[in-house]
Amino acid sequence: MMKKLWLIFFIFITTLFCSVHAEESLKITSINFDNSDNIIFLTAANKVQYINVKSMKLSNPDRISFDIDNAILTQPNASWTFKNSAIKQVKLSQFTTNPNVVRMVIIYNKNFNVNKLKLYRIDNNLIFSYNRNYYPQTNFADVYNDKASTYNYYEYATYEEDMKNTPAQTTQEVVRSPEAIEIQKAFNSKGELIKKDASTITIKKERNNKLKSKFYVNRIDVKRGNALIRGVGEIAIEKPFVVSEPSRLVFDMPNTYVAQEIRNKEYVLSENETIKIGQNEPTKARIVVTSNDVDKFRPIYSYDRQSIFLAHDNRILGMKLYDKTAAIYTYSAKKINEETDTLQFLFTEPIIHSIKKLNNKVEINLYNCSGFNHEAYQKNLNSEVLAKLRTEALPVYGIKLIIPIKKNTVLTYKESFDNKQLQLTLITPKETEITKSKPIPAIIKKNPNVKTIIIDPGHGGSDVGATRENIYEKDITLDMSKRLEEILKKKGYEVHMTRSKDTYVSLQDRVDFSEKNGGDLFISIHVNSSVTPEGNGLETHYYTPQSYEFAQIVHKEFASAINSKDRGLFKSKFYVINHTTCPSILVETGFISNPEERKELMTDQRRQKTAEAIAKGIMKYLGKN
Ligand SMILES: [Zn+2]
Repeated sequence: MMKKLWLIFFIFITTLFCSVHAEESLKITSINFDNSDNIIFLTAANKVQYINVKSMKLSNPDRISFDIDNAILTQPNASWTFKNSAIKQVKLSQFTTNPNVVRMVIIYNKNFNVNKLKLYRIDNNLIFSYNRNYYPQTNFADVYNDKASTYNYYEYATYEEDMKNTPAQTTQEVVRSPEAIEIQKAFNSKGELIKKDASTITIKKERNNKLKSKFYVNRIDVKRGNALIRGVGEIAIEKPFVVSEPSRLVFDMPNTYVAQEIRNKEYVLSENETIKIGQNEPTKARIVVTSNDVDKFRPIYSYDRQSIFLAHDNRILGMKLYDKTAAIYTYSAKKINEETDTLQFLFTEPIIHSIKKLNNKVEINLYNCSGFNHEAYQKNLNSEVLAKLRTEALPVYGIKLIIPIKKNTVLTYKESFDNKQLQLTLITPKETEITKSKPIPAIIKKNPNVKTIIIDPGHGGSDVGATRENIYEKDITLDMSKRLEEILKKKGYEVHMTRSKDTYVSLQDRVDFSEKNGGDLFISIHVNSSVTPEGNGLETHYYTPQSYEFAQIVHKEFASAINSKDRGLFKSKFYVINHTTCPSILVETGFISNPEERKELMTDQRRQKTAEAIAKGIMKYLGKN
């Protein structure tokens, strides 16, 4: 009877900070989805005070539309279709231009319960969250019992039902207002602001799954010297890495957007420690922890995977991370094939954990787990690798699982969405007969009387070093090193560079490289920086006793040749000069943070002079001219 009837089911109006003020249009630049199709992000490029959204639910097809007032879509109209999801399709369009209204339509199937759809505003971004409870009280904020920080940092909408009989409308061809055209021209197809050329706008065709996962981070809180990083969406991090001078722990968060107000803001963890988060790429955030204790920090996920607690081992002692204690319900440790072993746990409650891979072991800290039953674990065990698992009690509460591994073991791990399951896979490539019998290539020197010099250009690749005004330390150090290499080679030395391109090389790899190539001398080239623009000058660092004389001689040559302040010789425990066996030094060739010195560091003369002075020092030390 109701066949083919376009039925208006009901209409409701959602208003976020309703206003009558005429103001700048909200420029909507992009739409993103989380990988469960349950969160839709509309990102805007500008700050506006008020965002008004009206919603309307219609049937046949079942859909809900949201009209965002005074908004301009900076991209062409687009639509996305989804498979295996309660949401079938999402359409985004410039609905009208006078007034400017952007319409988002969600077309859904029978399983979709529209009452579970919630709308939030965070800054200028609108977040449509389906079937999930993204409320602050379910975040780590409360599991850490920090009463001081429980205010609502999400603003969320209330629905008002209004039974107005508005006919169903489909997106129509709209005549764009001059304002809309102008704004749209200012953005490229990725929703990024472009300066002039509007011709680069390309029309995005309908796109299928797979969706981008996205995390919106908008808050960092310091708790007893640890950092709690919070937001909305599913958090993910990439493998952390360590850089030196000062020593820093760095990791990237893919598909993450950082709220403007916390971007690059430095949070103090302790007297000498800070953390900051930046927008490294348009969809990638980077967290940098500056600390002498970088090895002690571990990222711990919240049970709802919306927060990371970056915790220092010593400072979470006695901290209750989650109020529910979990027990291990089942154990499964299996050898899958010659190279692969898997370890699976099912817990009775969400598990608060951290997994860390070191050179020779994997450590799994279970912070809210009451115990480990070795007998139960042994029962289903059929893996030699996992038979070596041992446990330690964590201080105060929880347990640590330790699995010895080989250096080339590859670790992957998965957690279930409810954080009650943990699955680790360890793949250890089998050594072939050839590689097994082949000894580590012996150092073959062309001439045993020729000294081998290892030049180590500081930083490289993703580790840019100190930076000012788009000038990177890594580029200066590489250029100076190449100049030094050329001079020394001409003088007949055997010279090896730890990197000769813009690549990331770990500190340990630099040390290994020197050892493998039989370095007689090791010199690491760097550029200094300071928080104030005033500091300038030259430094030479050494650490081991066998390096002192080398440092002294090179520094003397270097400091007298370059017209900058002689800041002196330092005994510093930098990784590369502490772990190499031969006499090793690290030179700081000037300050990138000082505008005049930076300018000079960009010149050929300064770089060449520096290389020549260092070469002279090296030769003097080796008793040659
Ligand atoms: Zn450096």
